[in-house]
Amino acid sequence: MRNFVYAPHLQRVIFGIGCVAALPEEMAKMGGTKALVLCTPQQRGDADHAAALLGTACAYVFDRAAMHVPAALAREASALASRLGVDCVVAVGGGSTMGLAKAIALETSLPILAVPTTYAGSEVTAIYGLTEGGMKKTGKDARVLPRTVLYDAELTHGLPKGISATSGINAIAHAAEGLYASDGNPVMDLMALEGIAALARALPILVNGDAAETTEARSQALYGAWLCGTVLGNVGMALHHKLCHTLGGSFALPHAETHTVVLPHALAYNAEAAPDAMRRIAAALGRPEASAATAVFDLAVSCGAPTSLAAIGMQESDLDRACDLALQNQYANPRALERQAVRGLLDDAFHGRRPT
Ligand code: NAD
Repeated sequence: MRNFVYAPHLQRVIFGIGCVAALPEEMAKMGGTKALVLCTPQQRGDADHAAALLGTACAYVFDRAAMHVPAALAREASALASRLGVDCVVAVGGGSTMGLAKAIALETSLPILAVPTTYAGSEVTAIYGLTEGGMKKTGKDARVLPRTVLYDAELTHGLPKGISATSGINAIAHAAEGLYASDGNPVMDLMALEGIAALARALPILVNGDAAETTEARSQALYGAWLCGTVLGNVGMALHHKLCHTLGGSFALPHAETHTVVLPHALAYNAEAAPDAMRRIAAALGRPEASAATAVFDLAVSCGAPTSLAAIGMQESDLDRACDLALQNQYANPRALERQAVRGLLDDAFHGRRPT
């Protein structure tokens, strides 16, 4: 039995079809009386629905959340929250909207109520990110962890199939790296395995199934996303997350797609150094006979997701610089980071080679 530390974050999590209707009472339970509602321009409809549920308890809908949380936007939204005199923030959306809510919480200490609509998992972590002058800075702060999360699969109906698949594999990446985290613990392992299994079952149905099947699959996927996100929030991530952070931050590659392409290759890189975790990941993916790397790659293919960095906008001439950046400020990783091998990993990911 390994030694471990278990210190979970406390949050109230409500799960169920239609549970967004409980928004007013849940906001009141956390002490909120007047909210700033946040969303992206594309999700104004979902945010307006939340605002209508809140009635006069909604002070304003700010609909300009954007990828990677530009610091100027965060300052503008924080100033607006102060000017309106709100006492909480309601975030309706994916990781970009959660990110803006977290930036406001960091500045103002306002509590967040999260209504997630993708599988990214940010709503259950105390990790924030802010981008200024082309540099994305990340950190951890307990104030940015949402107090309450409403998981309502109805709100994922509008999520395009392509984003459903890549966002789901983004979630699987959190759980996979959690299983070989240097600070992992048995409870997070259980959540990681259950989360991977739920997503592996749900994603192909979400993409290929009929309407009746996809309703249940949406709930399964959101359940998996909660579990996988919780793992991300509680244990340290490794090479895969470092690579994706580098590729997204320095080469403007899309977040969930980058996770989808890189994960099989990061797992192949770590395979020999973390054999037990790999065996458990493959089994949770329903492919005990395969390597974890191959099983993730095949899942992406079966969901019609991108499998190469070339397909999502990476230039081959940038691979050397990406490798150099990935080797700086290294995260703990089961296998030591060897320049030539990491460069080989990036080459495999660039060309979308199926790992063995
Ligand atoms: P996103 O929030 O950028 O959403 C992608 C697009 O899909 C947006 O246009 C959004 O409006 C739209 N969308 C989202 N849900 C929808 C729905 N149900 N119906 C219709 N459209 C919908 O994408 P994401 O992958 O959720 O988040 C990525 C960002 O989150 C990145 O910046 C990443 O760094 C961050 N992130 C942070 C953490 C953390 O713990 N801090 C964890 C994961 C991701």
